[in-house]
Amino acid sequence: MKKYNPEEAIVSVRREFGEHGGVTPSIERSSTFTVLDPAMMTQIFQGKKSPEEGDFFLYSRNFNPTVNVLCRYLAAMEGSESAIATASGISAIACTLLQLCHRGDHIIASHQIYGGTHALLENIFPTMDIEVTFVHPTDLDAIKAAIRPKTRVIYTETMGNPLLTIANIPALAKIAHQSHDAIRLVVDNTFTPMLISPIALGADIVVHSMTKFINGASDIVAGAICASKNFIYQLMDLQEGRLMLLGPTIDPRVAFDVIQRLPHLGLRMREHSVRAMAIAERLQALGVKVQYPGLPSHPEHILFKSMLNENYGFGGMLTIDCGTRERAEKLLSVLQNEEKFGLIAVSLGYFDTLMSCSGSSTSSEISNEEQTQMGLSPGLVRLAIGYTGSLAARLDQITRAIKKVFT
Ligand SMILES: *Cc1c(COP(=O)(O)O)cnc(C)c1O
Repeated sequence: MKKYNPEEAIVSVRREFGEHGGVTPSIERSSTFTVLDPAMMTQIFQGKKSPEEGDFFLYSRNFNPTVNVLCRYLAAMEGSESAIATASGISAIACTLLQLCHRGDHIIASHQIYGGTHALLENIFPTMDIEVTFVHPTDLDAIKAAIRPKTRVIYTETMGNPLLTIANIPALAKIAHQSHDAIRLVVDNTFTPMLISPIALGADIVVHSMTKFINGASDIVAGAICASKNFIYQLMDLQEGRLMLLGPTIDPRVAFDVIQRLPHLGLRMREHSVRAMAIAERLQALGVKVQYPGLPSHPEHILFKSMLNENYGFGGMLTIDCGTRERAEKLLSVLQNEEKFGLIAVSLGYFDTLMSCSGSSTSSEISNEEQTQMGLSPGLVRLAIGYTGSLAARLDQITRAIKKVFT
């Protein structure tokens, strides 16, 4: 299978130095840009001059030089022709799907997705007459059977939230592209940046919440769309661009923060993976119901391995099924308050471990009935493993916590 080297790609991007030779880019905070003569303004509005061809900037909701630097990095990271950064992950997802789907169209979506995306697809899209069929992400026959003439999108997360089910991206791309021309495979790669390059595996569009691993410091909210140049221009079109006209623009100051963190994303992902693997192995040895894509016991372990880029490991996410919500809450409390193993918080990709009980937090938008149907136990604890402190101490902490809660 075609592999990709995102770290090499990121360092190969044309470097942008600061105005005075700074080793970091300058931040262009201007919301508007001057032109030397009025005719130029007309040409920009007619689309005859664009920021891609030179320094023809107009207005920062459209394009901004600092945001463009980040976009070049993002395109390199995902191996896409182009990319655009947004104010949040959910806005990247919403604008992408609204650009692809109009009234009467149909979306096939994995049911194992971020709760907010699930709510958007279940509660908002139908009000615009866009129908959504939810499917199990690994049930390829069900996905094929769900295709209709008006299907425009197959939507999945690379590693589903919160059950860590792995999507077969090459197979989904094949289904999308062989059915009819108008179906796009859109993949949310938030859980697995660097590890998996969906575009090299056949996806059309990759979306991200950069709030998580990509930024890695839990101090900003941002998103990204990586796609063809044509699609990015459609999103930014002055007349019909969903990103341009719905307006979830990233602030250049926030874009700068992410620019400063992308070059060490590879290093961070590797360490998240090393820690998560060791902790998953320890939990397995303790007889706990642990799910981690790096363990041979994970149902899609072999598939995941076949899609992985080299040297980033299996990621930083794992789950423990405690059976009941009471026991899950006891474990969270012991891990945080007695053992100082991590923090009870939603989100992921932070340098400290973040832990939450999915059914009653990030997946609470999904009804209890549907949670049961998809196999989401009320006692499921999701851990986003961080890399602070020593691994040996972390292993001792979690071992003690498990013994306290399970015996
Ligand atoms: C957090 C998250 C989102 C939403 O991103 P925001 O930056 O919070 O808007 C979407 N998809 C996944 C997988 C996420 O974890």
